[in-house]
Amino acid sequence: QTDIVRSRELLIEQRDEAMTAQEKIRHLQDELTKLSEVVRVDQLTGVLNRRGFDDAVVREVSRVNRGGGNLSIAMLDVDNFKIFNDSYGHQTGDQLLKELAYIAQNHIRENDILVRYRGEEFFIIMPNCTPRQASEVAERIRSSLEKDMTSGHKITASLGISTYSFSSDLESADEVLEKLIEQSDQALYQAKDKGRNRFQHFSSI
Ligand code: GH3
Ligand code: MG
Ligand code: MG
Repeated sequence: QTDIVRSRELLIEQRDEAMTAQEKIRHLQDELTKLSEVVRVDQLTGVLNRRGFDDAVVREVSRVNRGGGNLSIAMLDVDNFKIFNDSYGHQTGDQLLKELAYIAQNHIRENDILVRYRGEEFFIIMPNCTPRQASEVAERIRSSLEKDMTSGHKITASLGISTYSFSSDLESADEVLEKLIEQSDQALYQAKDKGRNRFQHFSSI
């Protein structure tokens, strides 16, 4: 009888400790989320997050508006990632996103910036980059993803590219930001539509 009472007390004690630990973890996770917003870094991959993206694009558009030149951005989206997650689990999916970020980071140019925008969608910001140079960067990333994943999983990604060039009709940086996102999204949609695992430039036709 005493043993049973003691075991029960022990169980309650351990449950309380576990709950306190869980609360602490939740609290730390909240803190981490807040912190990564402040420093504009994505927790999972260590690359810039969405807020970092907005800041960087606005900065680069202003640079074009002041001094000419151009800016390209590419929206990258993992192909059929839902099926991947459903087959291998969300955690393996997360590991894959980390590896993707690592590979992409190694194939962009020195001044290019990689961003995890949301979920399985990334952006590459390419300052001083013509559409032709942007194609080269996109193709390097696409082909290395296809063959260089070390985790043994096969994935591909599609990319949509849009370019902003200096013109005499100056547009505000915020307007350009919105337009670039919209255009790269449309180009990405076309790349998916054409069969995925490819890049596509925005074209208004
Ligand atoms: P598509 O080729 O058209 O892009 O197909 P898709 O399955 O990749 O596209 P969809 O937008 O239907 O699904 C995206 C999936 O990505 C949904 C979800 O399972 C997964 N996903 C989104 N964010 C994360 C994440 O942070 N971690 C993991 N592991 N999976 C994510
Ligand atoms: Mg997506
Ligand atoms: Mg996808």
